[in-house]
Amino acid sequence: MATFRKMALCEASTHKEARYYRENGPVSSYFGVNVFDLEKMRRYMSQSAFDAVQAAVKEGRKIDRKDANEIATAMKTWALEMGVTHYTHLFQPLTGTTAEKHEAFLSVKDGKPFEKFSGTALVQQEPDASSFPSGGLRNTFEARGYSAWDPSSPVFILDGTLCIPSVFVSFTGEALDMKTPNLRSMQALDSAATDVAKLFDPSVKTVSVNLGIEQEYFLVDEALYNARPDLKLCERTVIGHTSARDQQLSDHYFGAIPSRVSCFMKDFETEAYKLGIELSTRHNEVAPNQFECAPVFCSATKAIDQNMLLMIIMQKVAKNHHLKVLFHEKPFDGVNGSGKHVNWSICTDTGVNLLSPGKTPTKNLQFLSFYASVVKAVYDHNLLLMTSVCSLNNSYRLGGHEAPPAVMSVFSGSTLAKVFDSILKMDEDMPESKADKESIKMVSAIPEIFPDNTDRNRTSPFAFTGNRFEFRAVGSSMNPAGATYILNSIVAESLKSFRKEVDDLISKGESKQNAIMATVRKFLSESRNIMFEGNGYSKEWEVEAKRRGLEAVNNVIDAYKVYLRKGTIDLFKNLGVLTPAEVEARYEVMNETYVKKLQIEARIIGDICLNHVIPAAVNYQNTLIRSIQNTKDVFGDEYKKLCRSDMDTFRKISGYVNELSADVEQLVEARKKANVIPDMSKRAKMYSTEVKDWMDKVRYNADHLEMLIDDELWPLPKYRELLFF
Ligand code: ADP
Ligand code: MG
Repeated sequence: MATFRKMALCEASTHKEARYYRENGPVSSYFGVNVFDLEKMRRYMSQSAFDAVQAAVKEGRKIDRKDANEIATAMKTWALEMGVTHYTHLFQPLTGTTAEKHEAFLSVKDGKPFEKFSGTALVQQEPDASSFPSGGLRNTFEARGYSAWDPSSPVFILDGTLCIPSVFVSFTGEALDMKTPNLRSMQALDSAATDVAKLFDPSVKTVSVNLGIEQEYFLVDEALYNARPDLKLCERTVIGHTSARDQQLSDHYFGAIPSRVSCFMKDFETEAYKLGIELSTRHNEVAPNQFECAPVFCSATKAIDQNMLLMIIMQKVAKNHHLKVLFHEKPFDGVNGSGKHVNWSICTDTGVNLLSPGKTPTKNLQFLSFYASVVKAVYDHNLLLMTSVCSLNNSYRLGGHEAPPAVMSVFSGSTLAKVFDSILKMDEDMPESKADKESIKMVSAIPEIFPDNTDRNRTSPFAFTGNRFEFRAVGSSMNPAGATYILNSIVAESLKSFRKEVDDLISKGESKQNAIMATVRKFLSESRNIMFEGNGYSKEWEVEAKRRGLEAVNNVIDAYKVYLRKGTIDLFKNLGVLTPAEVEARYEVMNETYVKKLQIEARIIGDICLNHVIPAAVNYQNTLIRSIQNTKDVFGDEYKKLCRSDMDTFRKISGYVNELSADVEQLVEARKKANVIPDMSKRAKMYSTEVKDWMDKVRYNADHLEMLIDDELWPLPKYRELLFF
């Protein structure tokens, strides 16, 4: 009888490139048709309602009931014209994904049907929140939470439903989602950065964050995916021997895009364009069947919401192509994992990118002020920033030799590194008294800083790339809001202290320019230890980082504890980003999520080994033993010589099978032991050590069996089948 795998391979072989759908006309003619954007707001709203939305977006002003009703009516009119029947608040709970509860516009009164959508429904929805992780922020008897419209992100239509980007908070106002702290962090950063920007240009009113989020992903054939219980339930292969060929030849990276994949890309790009997502790049990534796309950067809130939306539509569109998108950080052992590079910059309302080196020395001084503040922020909170990307999924990728290392560092590029060296050198060489005069000389001596685009370091988790920082350690499946609010917060704190230092020096009689320069120097010199221009994966860096006193993430659960440190609690509290209770809740949820995910993986690996691998092994042993017996019947004693290899294989299989089943038992025991530990963090620690160790042992035996058993009998699609179309 054919195995499930053989049937899946057969089905997969019928999956040829699908036709892709193209809208008529150039992309610009349908870009954003499904978004209630500025132009549509103007068309469907009165001036006063339009102004109310703008004031809410730009100044965070509250929208009153009358305006809300009018805005809702305008949205409804547009949505009905587009054939929409339902609406939903789309929010981002702590699960890391998105959540939606659809409600119909339809209402019937006195037997008369009509469509209804009030201002209240737009502004607020009350999904039963009891099943979302809250880390104890809600009492069980008060399960209510509510979602509230975030006007800074545009409303759009997906699958005939009007989607309203929303925050999700408890009834007492605590953040139960990823979006709320991010919005708060943007306000904190705005205020701190504006204060510093005003030193250079008093007309600056606001500073906002821009993000360009690159998305890596794997594609696998749907039939093969369905034949792998591990992929289906945890998006990761928990067993699987490496393929003889994978990424050694580096021939996939930037290679010609396979036509089946290219059709898929064109299709999801069309959907993305209609939703106003400005996708600009697509290419093959390093691992086989790994790809990447990136939109043009835009405001942080929009960029994050669009990234979450992009993941939804990619998965939906993939169905039409009999493909599955794997956003998991490490779906396959032995080949590269996937990340989500978050390109981060800050920009004034006057249109100046504060991380863009200027052409004149004073402009450079502004750049240096912001640069030094970011570097100082990363240094002061290096473990927190590294931990902001820590999850079970990402732990399979981080610290390996293909992805950002376990220790945070900042890569500046050789041009900037030289500038910093000269700034720091002057500081050391100079007696205090002479510093004033010299620093003026130095300001004018700062060379023109040309962003050097050629200088790329792919081993740094946090690299400056000319006019922005690229946070490369973020995981491909993560909500990028998590890393962003932490980055925003630490930089806000640093900028606040930058401005304070400058003000203190000025009040002591320093000139403004000298005060700024002295603070730049101080910040750079204090955070020197975080700057590293070399290979972040190397052994030397590990040793060097230790010498510098930088903390490494060796275990995710240990790293999570950084959230409970006073420095972290104070950081979020002082900036109004998260209350101590909200931080603790998040800590709880992180540990709990880690445990649950690993529990699923551990169960799946046990199931696969006992119910798929071992039966296949025994099946093959039966074939072998029959053959040996038959040989003996025909050749007598000579069978020992003739069947040496078969007997050898039989014994080897027995060895692995025995170990495998014993290890699965141990794995179950380890889980049982962990599950009774009441403290979630301690339980998670045991999962991250003992449970994980047993899983590794189980896998080792299963992967060896894969190499021994007749290919015809092996039950699960193999790496070489999953990774190559
Ligand atoms: P690479 O792979 O070389 O990093 P990509 O083109 O794949 O380059 O991605 C770069 C990302 O950085 C894009 O999303 C781009 O829009 C974004 N980006 C460019 N300039 C900025 C900026 N000033 N701020 C934030 N993001 C930016
Ligand atoms: Mg990049």
